Amino acid sequence: MQRTAAVLLIVTLSLPSSVFGANETPLAGYSPRSSQTEREWEAKFRAIPDSANQREYMRRLSARPHHVGSPYDKDNAEWILARFKEWGLDAHIETFGVLFPTPKVRVLEMVEPTKFTAKLDEPALAVDPTSNQKSEQLPTYTAYSIDGDVTAPLVFVNYGVPEDYEKLDRLGISVKGAIVIAKYYHSWRGVKPKVAAEHGAIGCLIYSEPQDDGYTRDNVFPQGPMRNPDGVQRGSVMDFASASPGDPLTPGVGATPDAKRLPLKEAKSLTKIPVLPISYGDAQPLLAALKGPMAPDEWRGTLPIPYHVGPGPAKVHLKVEFNWDIKPVYDVIAKIPGSVAPDEWIIRGNHHDAWVNGAEDPVSGQSALLEEARALGELVKQGWKPRRTIIYAAWDGEEPMLLGSTEWAETHAEELRQHAAVYINSDANGRGLFFMGGSHSLEQFINAVARDIEDPETKLTVWQRRQLSDIADAKSPDERSELRQRTDLRIEAIGSGTDFTAFLDHLGIASLNLGYGGEDDGGIYHSIYDDFYWFTHFSDFDFIYGRALSQTIGTSVMRLADADVLPFDFVDLSDTVQKYTKDLEKLLAGKQDEIQERNKELEEGVFKATLDPRRPTVAPPKEEVPPHLNFAPMQNAGEALVRSAEHYRKALAQKQSVLSETQAESLGVLNRRLIESERKLTNDDGLPRRSWYKHLLYAPGVYTGYDVKTIPAVREGIEQKKYGEAEQEILRVAKAIEDEAALVESAAQLLEQTAH
Ligand SMILES: [Zn+2]
Repeated sequence: MQRTAAVLLIVTLSLPSSVFGANETPLAGYSPRSSQTEREWEAKFRAIPDSANQREYMRRLSARPHHVGSPYDKDNAEWILARFKEWGLDAHIETFGVLFPTPKVRVLEMVEPTKFTAKLDEPALAVDPTSNQKSEQLPTYTAYSIDGDVTAPLVFVNYGVPEDYEKLDRLGISVKGAIVIAKYYHSWRGVKPKVAAEHGAIGCLIYSEPQDDGYTRDNVFPQGPMRNPDGVQRGSVMDFASASPGDPLTPGVGATPDAKRLPLKEAKSLTKIPVLPISYGDAQPLLAALKGPMAPDEWRGTLPIPYHVGPGPAKVHLKVEFNWDIKPVYDVIAKIPGSVAPDEWIIRGNHHDAWVNGAEDPVSGQSALLEEARALGELVKQGWKPRRTIIYAAWDGEEPMLLGSTEWAETHAEELRQHAAVYINSDANGRGLFFMGGSHSLEQFINAVARDIEDPETKLTVWQRRQLSDIADAKSPDERSELRQRTDLRIEAIGSGTDFTAFLDHLGIASLNLGYGGEDDGGIYHSIYDDFYWFTHFSDFDFIYGRALSQTIGTSVMRLADADVLPFDFVDLSDTVQKYTKDLEKLLAGKQDEIQERNKELEEGVFKATLDPRRPTVAPPKEEVPPHLNFAPMQNAGEALVRSAEHYRKALAQKQSVLSETQAESLGVLNRRLIESERKLTNDDGLPRRSWYKHLLYAPGVYTGYDVKTIPAVREGIEQKKYGEAEQEILRVAKAIEDEAALVESAAQLLEQTAH
């Protein structure tokens, strides 16, 4: 931390203070002169985005249901295309053919001990003008569930993640041959049927618990923002994390018309058992009919019933059948060609498809993207010429599982590997704090942007507001002192769940995922009630954070597109790599302690002594204590990266004053190498058992889905007790970090030798 501050001091001192404004440090990767020009254009840009326009885009795009394959999805794509063209961007639509199942039959009934038929329907509400578009709405369902017709006793499994099944083992309950009912959240929804099937269940229901997004938190829609008793969360249950996202029939290649498609029964990412999502209105009678042991305290929700685990006596019949059709997705792609380095690409995307009307998800983010594109078009008319090529993408088919972005990235994989410098994503946007996630080589960059954006509510910079709010939430004095002293706020590593996945995880393109949120609680996610009425009553209804998002991402795009030297920095990356290495060591030590302690308690008879014979539980099995692993290769590689990162930062600082006089050719060679820096963190063979995922630092967890696993192959090796594999993976990760250190070192030397 102090080291970071010292280096910054050198930067400031080594520059002639006359060239830039009184208190303005030149932007990273810019000479003082080019920095000043850039700041002027950026200031012009930030004055353009207009909240009223964003409101109008949202009204238009969310006016009717616009899921994949619907008439209004195509209509929206064509409308977005027309806007891009009107604003002077070079735009076209790219179409892919993807497997997109829609429901044909949905039956859920309780057959024992009493009869009950689930409604499976979200009613129209009189005050909400788009909620009655029944004929165009997709019914409530989860996409990529297999067809099925099963009848079996019901078991309540909490959130349905692996730890919950360990608890069930302790209660002596098996889900073999049962239908499970799991609560939404605490994992990507597709993890729930995956884990259930691995434990022998034959069907899976997922319900929205009022404790998580219903009346426990606030009034329900339409009186308030939260989920009402009929509201259902649609969604994808594709097992994308253990296979790949995108079209299940064309894994790894673009779903173009002539692509070879797998037969449906060979598609790896479909679920193994039938799945149906339900409302708490439909879940309550089923849960109330369960007996068996009481659910552990932390499993219980806030429905007015005692929560039992089962199995039975509730027995349910679940039947689902789907139309397994190939549907078109329409990606709208717009370009502003680069004037000096057209072969270096900055890509910015947000999806346009929704589950239903989707005002929040995705139109709040899409409206911000559109307003950025309009503003950039305006600047081009005023004479702004970005150095690099800018690509704006409105993706289709994100909701079923990143179909449009994945197929586009797979189709253009070769060009993207060569040209793509950075991908910036957003999705649903709310109000409140600025969220920064992504590649740590961009941590310094995005922190700098955040220092230049005003928070519309507090008038602090969005960086300051985030820092102060993190101090308020910090759990330890150490955390607080880091927040106060570290130059940059740490950005979150990103897993998956939205369109950056193919760019970062598959192609190794440095990526950011950005947005505002935290003050926009709601329970309409993926229901018919996520619409213009809800958004304009309960979320960012004056679109001030929509405007802030346009300003933030537009500024980021410009700053990346115009920099003399791409503003990657590797000091924060090296710090993060070292932190992740320590985290893994702690994880392993924690497991060793835990298993040692448990084995000891088993020997002492603790479990027998504490057993209540009227509420019998099963003692956990005695386990092998995890072996020690040798982290030294990662530690050594991490230290090499620290050294080269500091060398590069110093070399860049020394050359900063002359960057704009440096020959474009020399800068091109340097930038080429910088573009490679994220690729170096990938491995062509991919992660164990999921070769589509090539990044060795970040991946979605096989058993978490949305949530990232950092250094995934080593971490999941330890978590899944594959210690031999973890040991091997340490070597592979160490090699990638060494290669990264060598690349950064070579970039530093290149800078030092650069002629001008
Ligand atoms: Zn979305």
